Amino acid sequence: MSGRVIIAGGGLAGAATAAGLAQAGIPVTLIERETGPADKICGEFLSHEAQASLTRLGFDVSALGGHTINQLVLARGKATITTKLPFTGLGLTRRTLDEALLAHAQSSGAIIARGLTITNVSAGDDITVDIAGQTSQTADTLFLATGKHELRGLRRDAVPPQDLVGFKMYFRLTPQNQAALAHKIALILFNDGYAGLQLVEGEQANLCLLTSRTRLQQLGGKWPALLMDLCCDSPYLANLLAGAEELLLQPLSIYRVPYGYIHRPAA
Ligand SMILES: Cc1cc2nc3c(=O)[nH]c(=O)nc-3n(C[C@H](O)[C@H](O)[C@H](O)COP(=O)(O)OP(=O)(O)OC[C@H]3O[C@@H](n4cnc5c(N)ncnc54)[C@H](O)[C@@H]3O)c2cc1C
Repeated sequence: MSGRVIIAGGGLAGAATAAGLAQAGIPVTLIERETGPADKICGEFLSHEAQASLTRLGFDVSALGGHTINQLVLARGKATITTKLPFTGLGLTRRTLDEALLAHAQSSGAIIARGLTITNVSAGDDITVDIAGQTSQTADTLFLATGKHELRGLRRDAVPPQDLVGFKMYFRLTPQNQAALAHKIALILFNDGYAGLQLVEGEQANLCLLTSRTRLQQLGGKWPALLMDLCCDSPYLANLLAGAEELLLQPLSIYRVPYGYIHRPAA
């Protein structure tokens, strides 16, 4: 690869790509619209494979204080099973991980441009990247790493039609429930989706879930009603959240999660 390389987006994909290219001696500029750490919809479970990928980039994820996870609880209705994981996972917030990986990319030699929003991309002889309030930049190669966010000019219209809504909330559990959840990831299955509950650094519990928009609409579109409904479906979830304090003013939410998108370039 030669010429000017721009990466659009500084989440895990963008930051890891920037670190890898910079380490290979390729000049690269990453453009991220957030000015600083930001929460993202994510269960924040870091698998063995994800940790290995980060290690290959010379990134020491174990230094970030994640909560170690070595057991899986599967819960559905009144039934639960618990099993040992064949590896040690980590519960680590994206707020911490994304920032540290961006810093790693920067120290590897990438230029990290924060607080810049790409408004349009057009391809001619060069790729032109328009940035809100700034002069456009040109590139020979552009990596699209904006996650679920579409970029004007590069719309991926292959998102499968689906009805899923995602939510994420942090909780402070009671000391007893915190001890009960320690070193476990709980996957709670519902007819129309699932929830993941686990501890992350700072002794917070991350509840991240996908459910149908239909259920949410039937509950008046309200988070407290949805949470109560899910707890009615799952006594296991209800027990763990009993007496818990919500740590965000409102949950993060997304609609039309682009799961399963596969890029198939035209022949
Ligand atoms: C409900 C749910 C639970 C999940 N749980 C897990 C889990 O437990 N473990 C796991 O490994 N994965 C999980 N995932 C998947 C994981 O969240 C994604 O794979 C990951 O976030 C993708 O990273 P990314 O860098 O591609 O995108 P993102 O993390 O979304 O990053 C995209 C970046 O691009 C920036 N951006 C967007 N538009 C622009 C623009 N116009 N200009 C400049 N910057 C822009 C954004 O600010 C953002 O920082 C989950 C996903 C969902 C939906």
